[in-house]
Amino acid sequence: MSVRLRIGVIGGGIAGLTAAYRLSRLGHEVILWERQHQLGGQAAAFPLLGTAIEYFYHHLFMSDREIVALIEELGIGHHLVWLPSRVGFYARGRIYPLSSALDVLRLGIVPLHDRLRVGLVTFYLQHVHDWRRFEEVTAEQWLRRWVGNRAFERIWGAQLRAKFGPRASEVAMAWFWNKIYLRTSSRRSLFERERLGYIMGSFNVLIDRLADAIRESGGVIYTGIGTESIERSEGLWVIRDSTGRTTPVDVVVATVPSPLVAKLFPQLPESYRARLLGTVYQAAVTLLLQTRHALSDIYWLNIGDPNLPYTGIIEHTNFIPPTHYQGHHLIYVSKYVEQSHPYLALRDEEVLQAALQQLPKVNPNFSAEWVEDYWVFRERAAQPIVTLRYSQQIPEHRTPLPGVYVANTAQIYPEDRGTTYSVRLGNVVTSLVQEDLVAGRLTPTVNASNAHSAR
Ligand SMILES: Cc1cc2nc3c(=O)[nH]c(=O)nc-3n(C[C@H](O)[C@H](O)[C@H](O)COP(=O)(O)OP(=O)(O)OC[C@H]3O[C@@H](n4cnc5c(N)ncnc54)[C@H](O)[C@@H]3O)c2cc1C
Repeated sequence: MSVRLRIGVIGGGIAGLTAAYRLSRLGHEVILWERQHQLGGQAAAFPLLGTAIEYFYHHLFMSDREIVALIEELGIGHHLVWLPSRVGFYARGRIYPLSSALDVLRLGIVPLHDRLRVGLVTFYLQHVHDWRRFEEVTAEQWLRRWVGNRAFERIWGAQLRAKFGPRASEVAMAWFWNKIYLRTSSRRSLFERERLGYIMGSFNVLIDRLADAIRESGGVIYTGIGTESIERSEGLWVIRDSTGRTTPVDVVVATVPSPLVAKLFPQLPESYRARLLGTVYQAAVTLLLQTRHALSDIYWLNIGDPNLPYTGIIEHTNFIPPTHYQGHHLIYVSKYVEQSHPYLALRDEEVLQAALQQLPKVNPNFSAEWVEDYWVFRERAAQPIVTLRYSQQIPEHRTPLPGVYVANTAQIYPEDRGTTYSVRLGNVVTSLVQEDLVAGRLTPTVNASNAHSAR
């Protein structure tokens, strides 16, 4: 390729890594900054029990085409497995299986008449393709109308509250529709259990392979070094990082959460900044327990019971068997909270103690002696809250600033954020850069003048 841009990628999560991989493969000079000492962002894993495990529970759906294609392209497809999963619903002090349509009909927390309504509405949502009309109505309004107040309160309303807390009533039906719609494609038939995907050895297998591929194409990756500020100077963007180093680039691809993009680019026009700053995220606090025994036989336990104050309990070793973890069991106890929630400020030990009090509700035999080790992880930008007419408030990937692109989880819509969509973000932003280069909207100033070398 004759025209070579120097491109700064901010953030080494799946979106930043995919963009850096694709852009470096196109022959551009790519430099990536990741604030953490490790790449992978929300999908990263840490070494444990002879393999590695994600900080936050991760699986793939069969509809996750972009990430599966990338995994195959990178030659690591043999790590990907698809296994049946067992889903449950915790309500009124007990676990109800919820893996198939038949389970919905057996969900004894509401009368049969309500269950039939829930089944019909689920079937309907799985077959509606036009989500635009769901932008205008909240999930609560729509669902109350079609399944009735009782079924809403006990099933979906309870789950919405467990994830979005006081903001549950603001969540758009478009978000909820997507959750139901996409899950169909992870099932071969309505009556069969869903199959979910996992990268054996953890998502680090993909993250490491991406990093290697970037370096093989001449890209540079800085870990443990954040981007502090970015200024315009002589037609270039000058990135100042946390070591004090300045690096001029032609193009910036920012994959960090929206409020941080607004902070990095104070020169953005007010209308665009307002969109960035209007994004509200739920935070996630996840307790990972290594235990001697299984808590239940369910992989994914949704919680719809105010007496068990969590969003979900994800028993990873009911998906990938304990034999892969030297016989130990791994259980995530997950809670999504608003940014000001006191749970976010608890010390790790306090998070553990709270769970030790609560988990006997799921299995009365559970005791503190089961716990061999534990870790607590927090992510502030875990889940953008999708409110009414969300499409109108999404900032465009091409910002009003020349050569500055944004690709982050708040721009994923109507799908909900997930690793496959971060791969898509990386793919899309690469196409936009290439398009703008071909159209003459981007000019390679750095490499043309050899003004500076970042290495
Ligand atoms: C609890 C939980 C469970 C999930 N489960 C699943 C799942 O089962 N399946 C699935 O597909 N997805 C799941 N996801 C979502 C998925 O992990 C994310 O959507 C995806 O990884 C986001 O990737 P990203 O690159 O867009 O953003 P991020 O991973 O957030 O990456 C952004 C990166 O930018 C870095 N950064 C921030 N500031 C700076 C700075 N100033 N300079 C340099 N770097 C900076 C951050 O450290 C981070 O690494 C889950 C997420 C959470 C929180």
